[in-house]
Amino acid sequence: MMGKVWVSLAATLLAGTASAAAAQAAPAASERIAVLAGSVITSADAAPAGTSVIVVEDGRIASITPGRDAPAGARVIDLGTRTVLPGLIDLHTHLTGDPGGEFWREAVEPDEWGVVVGAKNARLTARAGFTTVREAGSAQHTAFVLRRGTAEGILAGPRIVAAGPALAIVGGHGDVSGFRPAINEILSSGYTCTGAVECAERVRRASQNGADVIKITATGGVLSQQGRGLEAHFSNEEMRAIADTAHSLGLKVMAHAHGARGVEAAARAGIDTIEHGTFLDDQALAVMRERGTVLVPTLMAFRGISERLGRGVYTPTVETKVRAVAETARTFMGRARRAGVRIAFGTDAGVFEHGRNGQEFGLMMEQGMTSREALASATTVAAEVLGMGSEIGRLAPGFSADIIAVEGNPLENARVLERVEWTMVRGRVID
Ligand SMILES: [Zn+2]
Repeated sequence: MMGKVWVSLAATLLAGTASAAAAQAAPAASERIAVLAGSVITSADAAPAGTSVIVVEDGRIASITPGRDAPAGARVIDLGTRTVLPGLIDLHTHLTGDPGGEFWREAVEPDEWGVVVGAKNARLTARAGFTTVREAGSAQHTAFVLRRGTAEGILAGPRIVAAGPALAIVGGHGDVSGFRPAINEILSSGYTCTGAVECAERVRRASQNGADVIKITATGGVLSQQGRGLEAHFSNEEMRAIADTAHSLGLKVMAHAHGARGVEAAARAGIDTIEHGTFLDDQALAVMRERGTVLVPTLMAFRGISERLGRGVYTPTVETKVRAVAETARTFMGRARRAGVRIAFGTDAGVFEHGRNGQEFGLMMEQGMTSREALASATTVAAEVLGMGSEIGRLAPGFSADIIAVEGNPLENARVLERVEWTMVRGRVID
């Protein structure tokens, strides 16, 4: 009751001022909204409930009750027979880039262009049902300003947890290669390191500059011009220094890794998530299971790069690497799952077109995941990986109002999540 009085008082005050500032304020922040749903899945581990009303206040879920009776004064959003569920989480995106760009573009395009591209992609991503993304590497400030833009409601888009520039070895994946030496040096992000001390310093600098998470490129990668294969790049000492320093600052570390020994070394060093994990073997999986390391398989990345093979998009160096990963990409996630390694949802959007993120569910299921497991990987499990398990990934009173609607039951077939029809992020409808 008190809450209701407070809300109407706030509404009166806002209406009274009618100033430009009020008009520009984050939309719908203090409005009471009643979402009418055909059925509700509050959590990937729960059974769907029938017709329900979800009341949203100040960007949070206030209540979830059976029936179709909206509280008086609430703005009603009637979603008909659709199934309503928690917004999805993609732990590996690159909003500031689109696929297929020639590598030399980074020498001619300013970083600021990434913000324009990112604003477009933030909306596409949210409309596809992804209400939180983890930005897995960008220029110094682009993902950070997008993070602020969507948080303040200036831009339509998901909540953004951002790494900023990835830490890399000199000339490694994540650093710049393929240009004349002087150009490589100019284009470097300033986050390469050699030796444990310097790597610890780079982690502290990333933290100082606004990183929510530390991204490292623990092995070679597919789409960079460096041709040093896909095996381990950092030394064990460097990786331990990165993990320990990050953890001491309360930050988690996500490691891009393809080669088995790179995956194993990263897990042993205490890195929190392995991104890709393509060539993992039994030895690497054993260490991941023992250390509780989470795999973020990014199966859509492999589909995206395969779609561009032989079209003159990639340099010969890159084409060779793409062909090397295509086969194992069809099986490695299933192998990790059978070994009991925890798997969380991430796509590498940007390597393929933003907005296709939901196609990852079908690829995960082709490697043995059930629909319920696939949905959990993108909701409850991903929320835990972010340390936000009491904020997102479920629908419950007090949780952020990150809500989506689909036709059909994603617990029976997670592929229905490829066609999300309605999205709300932090109480704001994305249109
Ligand atoms: Zn990536």
